[in-house]
Amino acid sequence: MKIKTVDLTRTYRVGPSKIIAVDKVNFEVDKVTFTAIVGPSGSGKSTLLNLIGLNDCPTSGKIFIENTDTSLLSGRERRKIRLFSIGFVFQTFNLLPTLNALENVELPMSLAGKSQKEQREKAVRLLENVGLGDRLSHMPRELSIGEMQRVAIARALANDPEVIIADEPTGELDSKTAKEIISLLFDINRKLKTTVIVATHDEKIVEVADTLCTIGDGKLKV
Ligand code: ADP
Ligand code: MG
Repeated sequence: MKIKTVDLTRTYRVGPSKIIAVDKVNFEVDKVTFTAIVGPSGSGKSTLLNLIGLNDCPTSGKIFIENTDTSLLSGRERRKIRLFSIGFVFQTFNLLPTLNALENVELPMSLAGKSQKEQREKAVRLLENVGLGDRLSHMPRELSIGEMQRVAIARALANDPEVIIADEPTGELDSKTAKEIISLLFDINRKLKTTVIVATHDEKIVEVADTLCTIGDGKLKV
């Protein structure tokens, strides 16, 4: 998916001080690339991903998705893009604790109005594809961190998005599990032809990425 930002800026006001979390960022991803955004903690990675994932709105500057100026979209249109075109993998997964693995993956399909049969069949297939065919009925608390990460990735893929945006997807994982998650994201990019954007510290991800951007104090260097 084509995403472009122009002087994208997000500031937070905390008491009397102003924090510039994302500072005039000009960022562009084209079609089926794998892009890594690398920077230390606090550099603005999550803020930037939340902006381009339409979870948050800029203080100034613009985000274009497929040449559409997203600042002109209604809330309903933004929700539609989030539901159908963007698969977001949150740093802390955001799995719903009262739903099992299958139900977590079914949720976006349910919101998209898919039939229950279709939801179930696809959720099973997606979880099998991420290696969790034997964990379908597990609740999030019964899963390891690596397994939760896989459920979150399967859920992000539920409505066949054009882009997967993942916030430090290997940040909490041991190196073996991290390697598996990286190869999963790489396969999603190459086989499903899905654009992948990851924020990371992980050099192994940097190695597989087509494009590397670094971010420091909210400023992006390509
Ligand atoms: P990263 O993901 O690279 O660790 P973040 O995007 O989370 O960085 O944060 C960038 C900066 O913005 C940090 O200085 C952080 O403290 C600040 N920040 C992030 N979210 C908020 C918020 N909701 N309110 C105030 N400051 C925030
Ligand atoms: Mg972060």
